[in-house]
Amino acid sequence: DSSGESLYRVVLLGDPGVGKTSLVNLFAGIQERDLPEQPGEDAYERTLSVDGEETTLLVMDTWETERRNRFHNYCMQVGNAYVIVYSVTDRVSFESASELRIQLRRTRQAENIPIILVGNKTDLVRCREVSVEEGRACAVVFDCKFIETSAALQHNVTELFEGVVRQIRLRQDSK
Ligand code: GDP
Repeated sequence: DSSGESLYRVVLLGDPGVGKTSLVNLFAGIQERDLPEQPGEDAYERTLSVDGEETTLLVMDTWETERRNRFHNYCMQVGNAYVIVYSVTDRVSFESASELRIQLRRTRQAENIPIILVGNKTDLVRCREVSVEEGRACAVVFDCKFIETSAALQHNVTELFEGVVRQIRLRQDSK
């Protein structure tokens, strides 16, 4: 767009406990020990320099604070991009991710919004219930990007948010 304004809302979706807050805290550069439980503080803004260009993301981690349907609908409407998180140690959360993808598609039918499917907690090797191949195949079926992360090891978390930026830019450029 011509205003040069480039702030994009990124909404994290996924079952409780899959690691959304941990991923957002890493994005925001917040250490767990700095966190004196601040209810309401669930959106974080940061400017990332990706491929020599700056983009500001406002990452919203509000999915669970409000369980009302109306709020979920709101989340489905406001995102410029979505990160759907499951835990590779929790098959139920993987199935929820598919449902969320379907719900998103229904809500934002005509739009080609970037969606990144994230399998988190790869460090818990012995508890893994969802293989990387299954995650990748699911992303192909649902036409979204895929990455596995470990918030605990801070593995692939930077790559995840840089990927979000790149996906947003791809859509902008093709408009
Ligand atoms: P949310 O409910 O989706 O926001 O999940 P949280 O970020 O609150 O994480 C739920 C629990 O899983 C917490 O105890 C985290 O410390 C833990 N957790 C999050 N990400 C990881 C990860 O990558 N590996 C491991 N081992 N634990 C994680």
